Amino acid sequence: MLLCKKIKVMKLRNGQRWNLERAKKSLRESKAFDPDLRFVYGKLLAEVYFRLDKAMQGLFRRLEAGEKAGFPRVKPRHQFFTLCYPAMYLEVQGNTLILPTGGGGNWGPKRYPNIVAHLTEDPPEHFHEVAVSRDARGNYYCSFVYDDAEQGNQDSEYKPRKKQKKRKQREIRHDGIVAFDLGIKMLATGVNDQGRFYHIGGFKGYRWHNKQLDKIRSKRDRCKKKSRRYIHLSKVYKRVSERKRNKQRDCLHKASHLIAHQLAERAVVIGDLSQRQMVIKKKGEEPPKERNKRRIRNRMVYNDWGLYGFVQMLTYKCLHYGKALYKIDERDTTKMCHVCKRKQDMPLWKRMYRCENSNCGLVMDRDENSAVNIYQRFVAGPPPHTQL
Ligand SMILES: [Zn+2]
Repeated sequence: MLLCKKIKVMKLRNGQRWNLERAKKSLRESKAFDPDLRFVYGKLLAEVYFRLDKAMQGLFRRLEAGEKAGFPRVKPRHQFFTLCYPAMYLEVQGNTLILPTGGGGNWGPKRYPNIVAHLTEDPPEHFHEVAVSRDARGNYYCSFVYDDAEQGNQDSEYKPRKKQKKRKQREIRHDGIVAFDLGIKMLATGVNDQGRFYHIGGFKGYRWHNKQLDKIRSKRDRCKKKSRRYIHLSKVYKRVSERKRNKQRDCLHKASHLIAHQLAERAVVIGDLSQRQMVIKKKGEEPPKERNKRRIRNRMVYNDWGLYGFVQMLTYKCLHYGKALYKIDERDTTKMCHVCKRKQDMPLWKRMYRCENSNCGLVMDRDENSAVNIYQRFVAGPPPHTQL
């Protein structure tokens, strides 16, 4: 794990600017670069970045105050160093503490099982964070960070502390279920157990922004490299693409917040994206029009869509607000009629589902039909759905 931190710090020593957001983003790249990282629990990796951020801020503060700089230090990767787990992700049963490991899900099979630690004392009731450390003799210690005032003012049953928000959360219906179809045109279309539909639109400005960006880039590429105009246009390009990214991310945050925080249903069900075939592959010779279509679509998926990020935000936010998020197989949910179960082809341009079965004749928005299918599949029970 430390390798990436080490590389990071080395780069910083060579004068690269520190930026926490960028560092967190590079975590995914680090995982691709070093597959071993996948078997480390993701929240721990994020924690390393947070600690590095604190260290860097400390460094800047010291530099500003004219003190001795004291550059952050790193340990080689084979050495153990203190790990911090946020309480939200830990399970305590009596005197045992379960520390999750990485892998599983989209990263493939887990290499290491979760670590079951036996504690010699009772842990405090409401803790924020657990730091795992080791002494020179090889004994491991768990340090619980907690608030004195919080202890014992609730029932004796252990509950991990959740941050209480000032804003009012809608009362949760514990038997409530809402199922969402996630898509390109409509970010999320949902239906709940009472038959109510939700529509959450996505970020609309892709085309406009992409057109602007392409225009700026082609202008720039006609200039002489390193010329004043070239540099100016590069700056404009960066600014516009940043604005686009921010707007999109903001939109995804709002949408996931809405689902996790505002909706009353406790169980949230979504289709499993890992099974979805989203990128169109090139098939032999293709006419220019087809090529163009494929390119636009794939650009959507790779750069603009952000559904993976959306699911991540949703995962985190559902956890935060005490909701259960389930992923289920979404095969044929768009193609199937939710009334008569007949399947028909549904190319992307068909926005309405018109059932070809004359006895049925269902006419419905395609995303709504798909959401109902996901809901019904979930309610129908097994195979066991992965809870996130
Ligand atoms: Zn039908």
